[in-house]
Amino acid sequence: MLIKSLTGTKDIFGDEVNEWIKIEKTIRDLCKDFGFSEIRTPMFEFTSLFQRGVGETTDIVQKEMYSFIDKGENHITLKPESTAPAVRAYLEHNMHAKIQPVKMYYISPAFRYEKPQAGRYRQFHQFGVEMFGSSSAVADAEVIALGDMLLKRLGLKKVELHINSLGGPECRKQYNENLAKFLENKKEHLCELCNNRRLKNPLRVLDCKNEKCQKVLTDVPTTLTSLGEECKKHFEEVQALLTAMNINFIVDGSIVRGLDYYTKTVFEFISNEIGSQGTICGGGRYDKLVEEIGGNPTPAVGFGAGIERLLLTMEAENGPMYIDNSKDIFIGYRGEEAMIEAVKLTNELRQAGLKAETDPLGRSVKAQMKYANKLEVRYSAIIGESELETKALSLKNMATGEPSILPFSDVATFLKDDTNANL
Ligand code: ATP
Ligand code: MG
Repeated sequence: MLIKSLTGTKDIFGDEVNEWIKIEKTIRDLCKDFGFSEIRTPMFEFTSLFQRGVGETTDIVQKEMYSFIDKGENHITLKPESTAPAVRAYLEHNMHAKIQPVKMYYISPAFRYEKPQAGRYRQFHQFGVEMFGSSSAVADAEVIALGDMLLKRLGLKKVELHINSLGGPECRKQYNENLAKFLENKKEHLCELCNNRRLKNPLRVLDCKNEKCQKVLTDVPTTLTSLGEECKKHFEEVQALLTAMNINFIVDGSIVRGLDYYTKTVFEFISNEIGSQGTICGGGRYDKLVEEIGGNPTPAVGFGAGIERLLLTMEAENGPMYIDNSKDIFIGYRGEEAMIEAVKLTNELRQAGLKAETDPLGRSVKAQMKYANKLEVRYSAIIGESELETKALSLKNMATGEPSILPFSDVATFLKDDTNANL
């Protein structure tokens, strides 16, 4: 029996992988413009990092982690997200001693044991940014602006930005009390997990996906009702900065994010074009996380965006991405001696940075020409006896059929000039 890939995982290849490469390039260029540098953390970490960093009462830690004990009896988890690892790295490498803020980004797989459906996988990929060391609203606004600019560079026009503020620890405490009271009155309508969360961490009830619970929450008080003066001012500053940058947003009290570590600003970029898994990007400020993971108090803000969902949204808004698969030249051959010359010339052209192909299958000349057509080459040529003698190639322009006779040694220059002329 053939062994298949695991449920919720997928192979990325062909045209699709070229779409990924394009998105990744857009991301890397954008992060350069914003002064964020890349961090690559390991695929697995100690389980305790996520228990502490993501939070014991979150869906991720309670239901979704791929955890195992390795041969050395270490409790290990495949990373379900990359913020906690980024914080661990920030502390492990004493980045607080560097010039602040420290701005990093990652493009990384993440692993969560979830029910696979459109836009939801068990191995998926996140692009995320983290900025450490600034409590100013300028940092929140910069991170949001980066997310907004990514969407714009990817040609997305219909994605909405929803923002909210959860407040600092004091406001949270006040809000948790109000919320706990509200939920106490509705307890018989909540699922078992939420009744548990209601007592331990009531905020987590708000992002329960159970329909029964969602119904109860229609008239729940929002976190904005419990903001203290400082948090209110911070949130107003974020809004003023976004407005100054012409970034449209909707203040939405229902955004609380699924992770425990957020404080003050939280936000989501949401698409209505890709069904129910419409949150492309989610993030916010997490001023308590660095302390939680064992460091000195350090303010921070960031987001994570799902690359699969970005691609789905791009396809929904603008159709399939244009991918240029064209090649410069195909060099075929007739006979053993010509084969050696064709391989040699192809290699020389590749060395010169041209997209050159020959026939690795030893096909007939007719079959080689068919292959050349399928490869989408701009020019083709066959080396036979007379070409070997004259050391010249008869290049056929595949679009016009027009031939050009050129010495082998001039082919690279000709193709380069031709490419430049077509730019
Ligand atoms: P959701 O509410 O959809 O479960 P989340 O709150 O768990 O999302 P985050 O942990 O904030 O998501 O992750 C950031 C982004 O990563 C999400 O906005 C989404 O685009 C993407 N993402 C999260 N889980 C998955 C998944 N299982 N498959 C694909 N993408 C995902
Ligand atoms: Mg989730």
